[in-house]
Amino acid sequence: MPFHFLLTLTADKKQMGNPTRKLTIAIDGYSSCGKSTVAKDLAKVLGYTYIDSGAMYRSVTLFCMENSLMEGDYVDEARLKILIQDLTIHFTFDAANQRYITWMNHQKVEDKIRTLAVSNNVSAVSKIGFVREKLVKLQQKMGEKGGIVMDGRDIGTVVYPQAELKIFMTASPQVRAQRRFDEIKATGQEVLFQEVLDNIEKRDYIDANREISPLRKAEDAVILDNSFLTKQEQLEELIALVNQRSK
Ligand code: C5P
Repeated sequence: MPFHFLLTLTADKKQMGNPTRKLTIAIDGYSSCGKSTVAKDLAKVLGYTYIDSGAMYRSVTLFCMENSLMEGDYVDEARLKILIQDLTIHFTFDAANQRYITWMNHQKVEDKIRTLAVSNNVSAVSKIGFVREKLVKLQQKMGEKGGIVMDGRDIGTVVYPQAELKIFMTASPQVRAQRRFDEIKATGQEVLFQEVLDNIEKRDYIDANREISPLRKAEDAVILDNSFLTKQEQLEELIALVNQRSK
């Protein structure tokens, strides 16, 4: 659906934003609350670039797992600090299947980074200071021209504190676990609901309590609780906010 059509759907003429002004949009929030779904939809409607910052932390985690750099919560930081210097991450868009693909060191890692094994290990890697420094720099570079929707945990607070629109998304842990459980099942992986719920609660705790860039709402972020919203309803709420901010 073209942007101007959605604008007219959601705003009267006086409130309509200026679609030529390219905003920076930061979407933060808890694990599995649908940030990436709505961020992708919004980027598509606006014709913006979408960046999944979580995929970048997941890629570094996969790299650690594949190179014997981690064991449980222990990460060999000394070796990782050297090896991460040459690590590359980039994204492409597979138009035929309408999906974003994550590449690490020029290898397609999109499916591998979505496994529960990576989800279980990612918090131990994402709390490391030099990992965050490297990825934040990369994220800032990716968004330097504006016209970007990026989702994560620290986008509105650290990566783009100057973002014109900041959203803090949330939903109850049960609702989030059910969505994630359905997604994992749909890929054919065997998983227990309780396992998924435990993973979400553990990641919430670690992400919100880590020393560096903990997950928190930026003071100027708008809270969006989508526990009882459909995808279309949350997209429309976001478009209304974009219209306000792009005037
Ligand atoms: O968004 P997603 O659930 O894929 O993120 C995976 C993990 O990456 C999070 O649990 C968090 O530990 C980390 N992350 C982060 N900062 C971001 C994005 C993700 O620490 N901006």
